[in-house]
Amino acid sequence: MLMSSRRLSSRIVATITTILLAAGPVVVAQMLGDAPYLVMYGRIRVEGNAQSRVMDYATELIDGIGPRLTGSPNLKKATAWTLDRLKQMGLSNVRTESWGEFGMGWQQRHISLRMIAPATATFIAQAAPWSPATAGPIAADVVALRGFTDASEFDANRGKLRGKIVLFGHAPAPPDAIPIETPLFERFDDRQLAAFAQSEPAPDTMNYEQAFAQAELMEKTGRFFASEGVRAVIVPSANNPKGGASGGTIYADTNYTFGWFVYQKAHAMSVPLVIVAIEHYGRLKRLLDRNVPVKLELNVDAEFTGDREDGVNVFGDIPGVDPQHKDEVVMVGGHLDSWAAGTGATDDGAGVVIAMEAMRILNALQIKPKRTIRVALWTGEEQGVLGSSEFVRRHIATVPLADTPEQTRMPEFLRRRTGPVAIKPDHARISAVYNLDAGGGKIRGVTLSGTAALVPIFQPWIAPLRDLGMTAVAVRRGCGGDCEPFAQVGIPTLSFTQDPLDYETRTHHTNMDTYEHLIPEDLRQAAIVVAIMVYNTAMRDQLLPRLPSTP
Ligand SMILES: [Zn+2]
Repeated sequence: MLMSSRRLSSRIVATITTILLAAGPVVVAQMLGDAPYLVMYGRIRVEGNAQSRVMDYATELIDGIGPRLTGSPNLKKATAWTLDRLKQMGLSNVRTESWGEFGMGWQQRHISLRMIAPATATFIAQAAPWSPATAGPIAADVVALRGFTDASEFDANRGKLRGKIVLFGHAPAPPDAIPIETPLFERFDDRQLAAFAQSEPAPDTMNYEQAFAQAELMEKTGRFFASEGVRAVIVPSANNPKGGASGGTIYADTNYTFGWFVYQKAHAMSVPLVIVAIEHYGRLKRLLDRNVPVKLELNVDAEFTGDREDGVNVFGDIPGVDPQHKDEVVMVGGHLDSWAAGTGATDDGAGVVIAMEAMRILNALQIKPKRTIRVALWTGEEQGVLGSSEFVRRHIATVPLADTPEQTRMPEFLRRRTGPVAIKPDHARISAVYNLDAGGGKIRGVTLSGTAALVPIFQPWIAPLRDLGMTAVAVRRGCGGDCEPFAQVGIPTLSFTQDPLDYETRTHHTNMDTYEHLIPEDLRQAAIVVAIMVYNTAMRDQLLPRLPSTP
């Protein structure tokens, strides 16, 4: 199946190349209404297949630099690398823009966890992000506690925990190594893809005020353990419904920290916190449940690298040339920051390198777009779309937010809106925001947020990409990640339906978010598709229609 579609696609590319060569060296950029300009489709496909740099970008960023936690020294390195590569590929106006003070810089240098009694064993573990270090290797007896549902449960444990390591049963889902009975890796077949495009996503029923009350309880729990003289806390990684978070895979994100805002000095964690693999948690828990004394040796070598680190986004342009439209902008990007346990390959290294490669392709073809095409690489995404939210607030529009105590303890992107959007001048100049933040899978469709008015525009645009496996147009209410702040103020936001691969089952926010989980052919295809959609949007006669929420 895969093989024959690959053959088909190379034959079509060959045909288009022939047409292209016959057309001569000067290909005038044009579009008639929303009819796709197939000569440009062909040129983008040839450039993206024959000259692809996407896996070079991936190794440099993911293997060469590694994890990119917001505020960390590695994220600074990644920012510098990105600026360098965008300049090297010939983009204009390559720059960073500060989005304000973030909080503490932190990096894990080393961690080791082993059992020394009743037997010796080496365990798979990661420091929770922004965990303080231990004072070198420490050895201590272990006490098991189940997760707390209320601060009143602290009392029964007072005076019993000094000098101990606490095995704390707090996890966002059961830490069970369930049998893996269905594949962890998946591609959509045509039927699944069509069903996905037709389906209405389930409404978001999450009670965020309640969820953040829980995060506040976790912050109090961390402070309780510190005040009781606990030496370190170990929590299990949770599993996911398909069982992908066993076998050495560990989640390590904000679900495991003592509170949401641990990156801010005022909310800093004061006891070392470690996430351990499900199987190793299980052994410890079973021994302790049978009253077998357990002793662990733990070394968390982590470093705080600054208290008030600045947050920056990265931009680079292919300038528009049409006198009437050159100040209008089509944006495309993903987020440069990641969690710290893996190397941020699929979340969101893939989105970053796809967007960069799409820009490289368009720039190499020396297109002269009507509108400016801008790559936007955001940071602070994992802490609540901080970089993109602030960009929107400064340039696009502001939104009044509820300020009750229940609301102000939540990150802003989740807070309730209390009044109309107040737009700023750039609101009228942003045609669209394309966001890539769903892993590295092949693009199978475009996802339009908010309005069905976009469907008849995109249907003819994707029709010539059928041989690449792209057939679906889905309409969704919101837009996840960094396009959400734009969608909330009425800017058309677009994302892509991608083959799931093992993103939700194995790599998303885990220590196994590594280069191995990227598929070169998928990333090449994605960059070609993105370049074509962005090109079409930049060349269209009008801006894309605004979303209905625009005042
Ligand atoms: Zn992400």
